[in-house]
Amino acid sequence: MSKTIAEELKKEVDKRRTFAIISHPDAGKTTLTEKLLLFGGAIREAGSVKARKASKHATSDWMEIEKQRGISVTSSVMQFDYKGHRINILDTPGHQDFSEDTYRTLTAADSAVMLIDVAKGVEAQTVKLFQVCAKRGIPIFTFINKLDREGRSPFDLMEELEEVLGIRSVPMNWPIGTGRDLCGVYDRVHNQVELFQGNDHSEIEVRKVDGYEDPIIREMAGEFLHDQLCQDLELLDVAGDPFDLEKVKRGELTPVFFGSAINNFGVQTFLENFLELAPKPTPRNSTAGMIDPLEDEKFSGYIFKIQANMNPAHRDRIAFMRICSGKFQRGMSVRHVRAGKEIKLAQPQQFLAQDRDIVQEAFPGDIIGLFDPGIFRIGDSLSQGSDVVFDELPTFSPEIFAKVTVKNALKHKQYQKGIDQLTEEGTIQVFQSASGFDETILGVVGQLQFEVFEYRMKGEYGVDIQLHRMTYQFARWIVDENKIDPGKFRINSQLVTDKKGNYVVLFENEYAMRTAMDKNPTAKFLETAP
Ligand code: GDP
Repeated sequence: MSKTIAEELKKEVDKRRTFAIISHPDAGKTTLTEKLLLFGGAIREAGSVKARKASKHATSDWMEIEKQRGISVTSSVMQFDYKGHRINILDTPGHQDFSEDTYRTLTAADSAVMLIDVAKGVEAQTVKLFQVCAKRGIPIFTFINKLDREGRSPFDLMEELEEVLGIRSVPMNWPIGTGRDLCGVYDRVHNQVELFQGNDHSEIEVRKVDGYEDPIIREMAGEFLHDQLCQDLELLDVAGDPFDLEKVKRGELTPVFFGSAINNFGVQTFLENFLELAPKPTPRNSTAGMIDPLEDEKFSGYIFKIQANMNPAHRDRIAFMRICSGKFQRGMSVRHVRAGKEIKLAQPQQFLAQDRDIVQEAFPGDIIGLFDPGIFRIGDSLSQGSDVVFDELPTFSPEIFAKVTVKNALKHKQYQKGIDQLTEEGTIQVFQSASGFDETILGVVGQLQFEVFEYRMKGEYGVDIQLHRMTYQFARWIVDENKIDPGKFRINSQLVTDKKGNYVVLFENEYAMRTAMDKNPTAKFLETAP
């Protein structure tokens, strides 16, 4: 690689951090994101992100549903600069907006920030998102939020991380008091205390100290809280895990930070520690081996999400691409490997807190939105001058199912076309009854996917469909050397086939699934397609 290009790439890669915030709704993700953006100067007022979240008239005309609900339906990206770093935050929507996109977005992140409410601990959606990150083995940083409220003890929460998520933790700071008594945190890494000042805690004073036993802390926090702090930290010193960067990098140990996003307490320290410890853009595996952003000069990237325009007058879509290597320049020609042709990337968009900008150049770790006239699919690889294909994106086990029927039988052809295209795009998974009936069943991970499917079938294919929710909760692909006997999957379950003809069983509950496993000892039950 030529020296100047290598230098430019190294400089740009070194300063980038691309991560996702994973949490359960209400833990404070919007609030934390906003504080981070404020530090970076990407937004000027508190409330901007919230406003976007709540706005009934978002400027985006991509998605009707997005407008109607005033939320960002599919995960998007925010970029800002902070002290020489360029930060990309990938948004992972929660609640009813949850979909397979949420999971796939995590593949574009190099690390994750797990946000936990101090009173609620590890919640259901956090578990799901954590598992996707854990499978990839990416580093996970934990921020325990809402420390200004009464909550659970830090030790209790650490134990829960281990028990529920199976990850060990190492507190980087420790609260001095909690809830109404919270007066600050002790920073174990930098040997300093950060204390709330003023009646409304709006000022934060940072003092260097000589270890946690330093009498200065006693003076500031009082005898009672200082004794408690010393007791806790002694215990941690003796019984806690030591900080080990290699384990953090492998996702075996999570650094834990305590704070309160709404009071901006502990947020800046968290950000600075995070930037120091979090990985810069990491290599990605491909048919040409590992593509390392520091070694591969040629541009490459892959599409991890496609956002359709819900406005029928504008069929265009936005394909989100993670850049894996090289320098992206507006208007450049790249090879669309699956299609086997060169394409010009003419109107790339980059995502800031408020507006979308046309991007002139971008580097590994960055996410850009490509105008998509219908040529991209999830998982497509784009590269300069070669046929690099990145590893396939993972698929996820559907958890919500519905039978689909078309209201007007004459539209059957368009209906079939819609189903084929939308499954290929990764919008939904489709199954056929294995019992000989002509019955189509859709499977998704989030309710929103059904709504999007219904909307697009009407908007893009002119087909009115009806969805009949089913009571199944699990899908397992079965692989068996012996012949699969449909008769064995009747009680609280149903045998179906996927698009490729693989056998899948849908189960109403865990008990039915366990029973079927016991009855079919030679079969393997897989969460996703083999
Ligand atoms: P999201 O659903 O995860 O995006 O959560 P939000 O950021 O919208 O926050 C949910 C609620 O928690 C809001 O009412 C916030 O004002 C509140 N909240 C966020 N951070 C804190 C915090 O540090 N302390 C307290 N007491 N409330 C917080």
